[in-house]
Amino acid sequence: MLIIMGLEAPREDIEKVKTKIELCGCIPHEIPGSSKLAIGITGPTNKLNEDDFQLMPSVHEVVRVTKKFKLVSRQMKSEDTVIDFGNAKIGSKELAIIAGPCSVESREQMFLIADQLKNMGINFLRAGAYKPRSSPYSFQGMKEEGLKILDEVKNKFDIKIVTEVLNPGTLPLVAEVADIIQVGARNMQNFNLIEEVGKTGKPVLLKRGMSATVEDLLLSAEYILAQDNYNVILCERGIRTFETSTRNTLDLNAVPVIKSYTHLPVIVDPSHGIGIGDKIAPMALASVACGADGLMIEVHPNPAEAMSDGFQSLNPKQFEKLLGKLSQLAPIVDKEFELCRTVK
Ligand code: PEP
Ligand code: MN
Repeated sequence: MLIIMGLEAPREDIEKVKTKIELCGCIPHEIPGSSKLAIGITGPTNKLNEDDFQLMPSVHEVVRVTKKFKLVSRQMKSEDTVIDFGNAKIGSKELAIIAGPCSVESREQMFLIADQLKNMGINFLRAGAYKPRSSPYSFQGMKEEGLKILDEVKNKFDIKIVTEVLNPGTLPLVAEVADIIQVGARNMQNFNLIEEVGKTGKPVLLKRGMSATVEDLLLSAEYILAQDNYNVILCERGIRTFETSTRNTLDLNAVPVIKSYTHLPVIVDPSHGIGIGDKIAPMALASVACGADGLMIEVHPNPAEAMSDGFQSLNPKQFEKLLGKLSQLAPIVDKEFELCRTVK
């Protein structure tokens, strides 16, 4: 259930509504919008009586939320959620680009790529310090040492860090460095982890599990919003199908569908989605064409030498070429993307 109040509602009236919700054993969530204040309700809402709220001062409307997911739904908040990072936004008209190598491999590698990306106008740097690998014998990431490198890079280049957390034990270390905490496909339904991630209050990049439905993804996001953390970015990164000619099947159907269900920003990771270096650019363009708010792309200074996912990483030149195409495409789909031409 959702209680709609006017933005001018006095605090006293808002508190009265919240107390009434709490007395019924439910949890109120204040969701301010540009034209109204919505109070979302989670918990055993069958005990609530719509009419009791309808008559309370400053209440405009009481709405039943019919979907399984509540706080993430467009019913709860019709306007798009925009996450503001100061020098860049995610979820606005501005196309958000997150780029960087799959893993942190060395200080030199990270300084080099951060410098190259920053010169291209990129404000979000991705790189995993903790890597979830299918084989226990594959490179598992530089871990704490990798986080220290990310912290140095963040300060030197004034770039936002997107990095993955694998478990609650290392969450405090990751949260200290990350501007956006990434929850990978393998952990999308690790509910204990995602609740803890939500509690940090940091923006969260939630990747779709490889066999998760759109509804599963939205319900996982709901766990984070239920911690009163509304800064969640959803990421389509390909699902497992019978098709074996590509690493995953990038489900671009999901983009407009998810955007119709939720106010949260939706980005696409074509690198993991298709997994083939020379096919990332067309899928990146297709992602933007179908309404993605942004992209996450693996870019490595020298993909041939990458310690993970080199075969699906672009080199800086290839990436820069893609940015040029994105800047041409963006206005056609009502997005803004300013190209920075400073790369040699
Ligand atoms: C990654 O982004 O490096 C990654 C491991 O992605 P995913 O969780 O989508 O497999
Ligand atoms: Mn990767």
